[in-house]
Amino acid sequence: MGVRPSPYLEGLNPAQRAAVETLDGPVLMLAGAGTGKTRALTARIVHILNTQRAYPRQILAVTFTNKAAREMRLRINAMLGDQAEGMAWLGTFHSVCVKLLRRHAELVGLRPDFTILDSDDQLRLMKQLIIAANIDEKRWPARALANVIDGWKNKAIAPDSIPTSDASFYDGRAMRLYAEYQERLRQLNAVDFGDLLMHMVRIFQKYPDVLQKYQQDFKYILVDEYQDTNVAQYLWLRLLAGGHSNICCVGDDDQSIYGWRGAEVGNILRFERDFPGATVIRLEQNYRSTGHILAAASGVIAKNGGRLGKTLWTQSYMGEKVRLIGHWDNEEEARWVGEEIEALQRGTRGIGPFELDDMAILVRASHQMRGFEDRFLAIGLPYRVIGGPRFYERLEIRDAMAYFRLAVSSTDDLAFERIVNTPKRGLGEKAVQTIQRTARERGMSLLDAAGVVVEQRLLGGKALASLGGLVQQFYRWHDAVLAGRSHIEIAEEILDGSGYTTMWQNEKTPDAEGRLENLKELVKSLDNFENMQGFLEHVSLVAENESDDSQPQISIMTLHAAKGLEFPVVFLPGWEDGIFPSQRSLDESGLAALEEERRLAYVGITRAERVAIISFAATRFFHGQRQSMLPSRFIDELPHDDVEVLTPPTLNNGHYGAASSSPAQVEERAAKADVYNSPGWQRMQSRSVQRGAGGMKSARNVVIDAVASPVFELGQRVFHQKFGYGAVTALDAGKVMVAFDKAGEKHLMAHFLVPAAQ
Ligand code: ATP
Ligand code: MG
Repeated sequence: MGVRPSPYLEGLNPAQRAAVETLDGPVLMLAGAGTGKTRALTARIVHILNTQRAYPRQILAVTFTNKAAREMRLRINAMLGDQAEGMAWLGTFHSVCVKLLRRHAELVGLRPDFTILDSDDQLRLMKQLIIAANIDEKRWPARALANVIDGWKNKAIAPDSIPTSDASFYDGRAMRLYAEYQERLRQLNAVDFGDLLMHMVRIFQKYPDVLQKYQQDFKYILVDEYQDTNVAQYLWLRLLAGGHSNICCVGDDDQSIYGWRGAEVGNILRFERDFPGATVIRLEQNYRSTGHILAAASGVIAKNGGRLGKTLWTQSYMGEKVRLIGHWDNEEEARWVGEEIEALQRGTRGIGPFELDDMAILVRASHQMRGFEDRFLAIGLPYRVIGGPRFYERLEIRDAMAYFRLAVSSTDDLAFERIVNTPKRGLGEKAVQTIQRTARERGMSLLDAAGVVVEQRLLGGKALASLGGLVQQFYRWHDAVLAGRSHIEIAEEILDGSGYTTMWQNEKTPDAEGRLENLKELVKSLDNFENMQGFLEHVSLVAENESDDSQPQISIMTLHAAKGLEFPVVFLPGWEDGIFPSQRSLDESGLAALEEERRLAYVGITRAERVAIISFAATRFFHGQRQSMLPSRFIDELPHDDVEVLTPPTLNNGHYGAASSSPAQVEERAAKADVYNSPGWQRMQSRSVQRGAGGMKSARNVVIDAVASPVFELGQRVFHQKFGYGAVTALDAGKVMVAFDKAGEKHLMAHFLVPAAQ
């Protein structure tokens, strides 16, 4: 066999090389962040192709995000050119399963053109079932049912195989509702996300001939980020690898961050048992980050119990310490980040200069993004939001998508329900009921039933005319899709013809403008696809904000979406208890959720190559109220020697804000000045100056002090949500002693108290 030279092997260390060259039998690569797992996995694919062990379509390679798949494909192409054409099975679990399921849909009672529902549709459907079952939706919300059902699907448990121990879920009615929900999906010719894998696992289990075909087709199986596979994904892999066992999984138990979505880190531990004789490879050299960054990340993750444990080292120089900075509030944090980005671009921070593409902001929760987006829009800093379903989740985008879906597939009843009266067409509840009844009686889709309603004049004059117009439009758009007319033209025609655009143009609310912009953006993004179907599929799977990548932009994303990525500069804002770690993880009694948050912190810090900047705010607005925040407990866990505490710029300038202000602004400024003048805050700052990062140890307590001391005085009246009103009797580091009128004396964290007037 003519083997081509193999430059892709050069530069790999011996352990990586072993992972690349051990092609027969199971291989598990278990190693910390930045040790070159993904790089080795990619080289392995190149090696398989280069040694002609398999054709591109015989390699099944599963990545965690579409972005990761795209990057892997680019790298393989760069190394092999044409030879890598036809890697049809490189993608996420979901994208691969959609393709498989379209081929075998009939085996689970679906047609190949099934629709993929998003979580919104899923909830709406469940709500209908809950109402039909006469269940009090307030006590038993659809969301709770969705969680139960998703949980089952993540374990590939179909309605007929629910363990008796789960029988009591959702008031004992989850089992029946689950069966009904699945039946409803089948009638709609639809699947939800969880179904994609569950259906495929069921098909493989029930039809050995189908399974066998794919066991032979996929000669090599490779899986990145294996620590985040759930049970259904695990079963699916085990079934497919069952024949030849040429499976290579790479992962890091310290980066398991999807436990809440059913991922089981135990899958890693089980690997050697399931695939006896597996070669286990450990990588220890980190190639990504400088010394201080790696040490800081290692210090944090060391606080977790039950780790497999591993050593990480780097040849790289120590580099910059992790930078830590506290701000008065999150607005100031966003402002500071914006300025810092520009300074790093100019190279005036003693390092760099860096391009915008080299920098990323990683947030714990997507709601933190808006503040940065707003700020960057204001100062004209180009940014992109990565990985989140943000853009496609917006109301106007979802409405537009429903129009497109119904134009493509006239049986998409959920889409019909969503838009039938949006914009308002005088088709209220009664009209919809008539259409639904007709659909049920005749066993047809809502759109077709609407046609019958019009024909038989089952509605009053105005509604009838309006419905007639709508049905006609949809038939026309559907024909246009079938005739292969430009999908961009069709989309424009739909948005204008349906009156949807006009609806927002007439709307006088401040956000209408932005929505119209978004709709334009949506039509623009169609250009990347061959046709409407391809686009809809992409959106339901990716839900990623495809922005203009031609110009340099800073990336904003959640920590979850940052997995596997790397950037020279990483901002980690919002490190406050209740934000990060999340409130949910703090409320839980066990440590499991908190440890998952800590792994997320580890993922975050290890994304950085040269600069990592952690920040927190002392106060934050929630539901229109300013709340004091505690710096994250993870800040305490950073090793002091690897951290440098920065001084907020507002402290240096002395003054703040514009000359003319509203009373509220004056008050806010006064409060702020108090915080900065408070002994606590100044102690924190001077400590950090005197002892470098050493001052940081008590940064949390000091900020508690700082926030508490201007607010509370001895004898002051305060209010606590649980204990009611009381008076302050003593103050010490971060805590306040309060004699409550009813609940007696309590020692409390200051931030649980608000000053009371009475
Ligand atoms: P994560 O756990 O975050 O997914 P990873 O283990 O997959 O990390 P990679 O992303 O593959 O790590 O590699 C991290 C960085 O190190 C990349 O920039 C990669 O190109 C580089 N790298 C990996 N192996 C080597 C090597 N042998 N020599 C030089 N650079 C390497
Ligand atoms: Mg990786």
